[in-house]
Amino acid sequence: MRIVIVGAGVAGCIMARTLSRLSGAEVICLERVAQGDHAESGTGLNIGPNARMALQAHDPELTDAITAAGLPWRTWRISLTDGSVLFDLPLSQVAFNDGWRIRWSELYRVLREAAAPAVLYDCAITSIVRDGNTTSIAWRQGGIERRIEKVDFLIATDGRYSEVRRALAGEAVSRMVGVAISRVLVPNSSNSLIDDYEQWFNGPNRLLAFRVPPDHVYVATAFPIPADQPIPESLKQPEALRAAFTPRSGALSAQGGWLVDTICANVADMHWARMQEHDVLYTDPDASVLYLGDAAHGMVPTLGQGATQAIEDAAVAADLIAREWTAGRRDPRAWLEEIDALRRERMLFTVEFSREATDTMLEGADPVAGTLHKNQPDFMAKLRRLYQEVPGLPAMATKS
Ligand SMILES: Cc1cc2nc3c(=O)[nH]c(=O)nc-3n(C[C@H](O)[C@H](O)[C@H](O)COP(=O)(O)OP(=O)(O)OC[C@H]3O[C@@H](n4cnc5c(N)ncnc54)[C@H](O)[C@@H]3O)c2cc1C
Repeated sequence: MRIVIVGAGVAGCIMARTLSRLSGAEVICLERVAQGDHAESGTGLNIGPNARMALQAHDPELTDAITAAGLPWRTWRISLTDGSVLFDLPLSQVAFNDGWRIRWSELYRVLREAAAPAVLYDCAITSIVRDGNTTSIAWRQGGIERRIEKVDFLIATDGRYSEVRRALAGEAVSRMVGVAISRVLVPNSSNSLIDDYEQWFNGPNRLLAFRVPPDHVYVATAFPIPADQPIPESLKQPEALRAAFTPRSGALSAQGGWLVDTICANVADMHWARMQEHDVLYTDPDASVLYLGDAAHGMVPTLGQGATQAIEDAAVAADLIAREWTAGRRDPRAWLEEIDALRRERMLFTVEFSREATDTMLEGADPVAGTLHKNQPDFMAKLRRLYQEVPGLPAMATKS
């Protein structure tokens, strides 16, 4: 069976690693960037305990490699920038295991090493065409045109702006939620002020930070903006940033002071974006095409579930396909139905919960009331569902 995976990012590498080990499967993974290019645009990732649990069930060796390259994510604290703590949650209360904190470039490095030699780098896709039940795909690599006709199973893991999805299912339509976000990764000069995952509010304006190896701090900001408007340039100036996070009393906490000084000193390196979501699509209705990760869904980043769900998607899908393959059931359309049944509801819940948790960042929000509400049983029950209940995992998915 010919299997082509497009995109060696988070989900693609996990799929390529598992499927290329199936006896009799011909697997290639086409990646756009050059080998060794793990560009990250200054980003640290907090990856949820649910991803780690899912990957542990599917691929313990790969899980260990990520653990070695990151730091554990164990607590989630939310304060005001004057230092008042509103929410302080050990993740052990809602999850079976830790999450991870890691640089995006390090995650890519570990995953791509683990997926080699199935990955072909520097590939520019030139056409993707549906041909009945199968697809054909063409690409250029090193000036040479290549083509595979009759791909039995095509897996799109080419991220948020998926070319496969655009070619076969049409552009995924984005919905803006009315929040501007920015991010920067800096060497850690905080003198231990910043370590595990924390957020700080002043009104609906929010800071977020955590430490990642080797010794850097990832800092992100969020501000309400009109959903249909671009991010105002005035917001990106040091004076505006300082004013946005300085409490009425004028007294920033020690953490708040370091964070505000840090973003103001690094405005030139900050990357800005608008929070958005797009519709869920796992399978093509007619052809044997599977979408995973950001190609399949887009959610707001509030709960750190983008890469987390890409890992969950891939661990569940790869595990199911490997089991079916070993049992001699080699019908991609049947796999697609099962994967859709396992992932769709789970993803709709995650998208909705991520949006709901963004309430404190919207225009006019009361972050104190909104955050205190997150201590209540209904929010905790949803967090438990998010972190503990991954449908379709082998029996391991119990307390570790
Ligand atoms: C600033 C920022 C912060 C984030 N923070 C977090 C966080 O803290 N926690 C979290 O869980 N998530 C976070 N995310 C989201 C997370 O990074 C993504 O959800 C995740 O990377 C998606 O994984 P993926 O496998 O679907 O796609 P990606 O990891 O984006 O991989 C897609 C791959 O496909 C390749 N590709 C793209 N187009 C083509 C093409 N035409 N041909 C061949 N290859 C192609 C790309 O080069 C890439 O290698 C963040 C995202 C951003 C932008």
